[in-house]
Amino acid sequence: MGLLKGKVALITGGSRGIGEAVVLKFAEEGADIAFTYQSSEEKANAVVAAAEQKGVKVRAYKSDASDYAQAETLINEVVETFGKLDILVNNAGITKDTLMLRMSEEQWDQVIHVNLKSVFNLTKHALKPMMKMRSGSIINMSSVVGVFGNAGQANYAASKAGIIGFTKSIAKEVGSRNIRCNAIAPGFIETDMTQILTEEQKKNYIDAIPLKRLGSGEDVANACVYLGGDLSTYVSGQVLSVCGALNT
Ligand code: NAP
Repeated sequence: MGLLKGKVALITGGSRGIGEAVVLKFAEEGADIAFTYQSSEEKANAVVAAAEQKGVKVRAYKSDASDYAQAETLINEVVETFGKLDILVNNAGITKDTLMLRMSEEQWDQVIHVNLKSVFNLTKHALKPMMKMRSGSIINMSSVVGVFGNAGQANYAASKAGIIGFTKSIAKEVGSRNIRCNAIAPGFIETDMTQILTEEQKKNYIDAIPLKRLGSGEDVANACVYLGGDLSTYVSGQVLSVCGALNT
């Protein structure tokens, strides 16, 4: 359909799961794509090959999103290689689930760093080229857990709720430069992150989801196409739930 033709997108954590689905969907819609990974080099190379088949330019970068200096280097390299940056998808994320009484300081810090500080790191450096262009769309991957909370995920929920406050603030701060910032709150999406659920837990979640299925990476990627492209030019500061009406 070419909804993103002529645009350059950077997606963090594009080697697997939701990020991989966003890379492939953006490629299908005509965007040139840079994406990052942390350790899955082989998987990242396979995603590059699959996305290139759609006839767009694709590069994978090994870059730790939680590291401020690496984020700066990454944005500079992407702008040098692709000439500009239209869309940033802050997707990289991890879980370290446990009940609060058992949660270590390290488990708290890791999740806050990878999930929340990364969004600061990438947004901070991406805003420079976007401000110069006086246009841009930033999409931050939050979660329904950031809106409603979840026992055993206090660190994760705090990081995802923090992303929502950050998103709304950035939307207000840079709206006058024609830069938009929105969050997506996925529900339960079938990826490696949710593979730890037992069949019984999955069945319980499906029972609670009005659309009666877990989501797919493609379900979230379609929302990213909408928020990243020109169909949403008057939409900013919003949280779009992609959760099959769970918790609605
Ligand atoms: P996933 O399958 O575990 O994939 C995570 C991706 O993030 C991988 O590409 C991984 O790279 C990358 N990554 C992890 N740490 C990184 C770091 N420090 N720097 C750069 N990249 C890093 O996860 P997912 O389920 O697709 O989740 C993607 C996002 O959606 C996350 O922010 C998650 O919190 C959010 N989300 C997921 C669900 C769900 O049900 N799955 C629901 C709500 C929200 P490597 O492959 O190199 O490790």
